[in-house]
Amino acid sequence: MFARKKPGTNTDTGTDTGKETVEVLTLAGLPLDCRLVRSRRKSLAVHVRHDQIEVRAPLFVSQQDILRFLDKHSDWVSRKVREKQQRQAEQLDLRDGGRILYQARSLNIELCEAPQASVEVLPQAQPQRMRISGPGIALAPQERAAAILKNWLQSMARNYLPDRTHALAAHLGVDHKLKEVVFRKTRSKWGHCTAAGRIQYNWLIMLAPDGVIDYMICHEVCHLLHMNHSPVYWKAVASVCPDYKRYVGWLKQHEHRLWF
Ligand SMILES: [Zn+2]
Repeated sequence: MFARKKPGTNTDTGTDTGKETVEVLTLAGLPLDCRLVRSRRKSLAVHVRHDQIEVRAPLFVSQQDILRFLDKHSDWVSRKVREKQQRQAEQLDLRDGGRILYQARSLNIELCEAPQASVEVLPQAQPQRMRISGPGIALAPQERAAAILKNWLQSMARNYLPDRTHALAAHLGVDHKLKEVVFRKTRSKWGHCTAAGRIQYNWLIMLAPDGVIDYMICHEVCHLLHMNHSPVYWKAVASVCPDYKRYVGWLKQHEHRLWF
């Protein structure tokens, strides 16, 4: 599996069961209000979620201990809030004048009413832009632009990913294990490979640079060799994609900009 990063779960060590109580704390050292959730858990944990700080605490920890805990983690919390806010500001905005990250270029979006649906990338234009045209855009710009862009990306995915996947599987001598290549937009995954030899790709990856797309293919095809993320698996990935760490890093940094 090739999953998107799940935010804020690494500090959570307790389990929450039974009734919860919720309070809101406003603290001088923190950039946002903090939601305090008490439940039958064993340890304190802090998360930053969608513009909100949340502390999860056992039922009987004193307010003073909670404040001390927050004070100790205030730098981390402030940094996380800033990162989230920046990521939110960078989200793909499918409206005329919005921005889209395509093959590592930040392009201006231009929406045009036209009889035929099309997507044109104009990297030489000033400013560099992506023009999304089609019928009905004037009436429902975001909805129609999303549908047109989706078709465009799906068609690129169909033209590119299965051939590359089969070629790499043949190169690695595992083509007999590859049964099917399918496409799905899932919330948390870029790709997935099952033991039955079915590789699934999220077509949104077609917005990423070529190297990242090829890395994703390597990632899934190498699962036909090893159904895990063991050192042997990563060695196989490195043998066909020596720069894979760079592409993993690119995705970590930019994947939030590829979703609509
Ligand atoms: Zn994987």
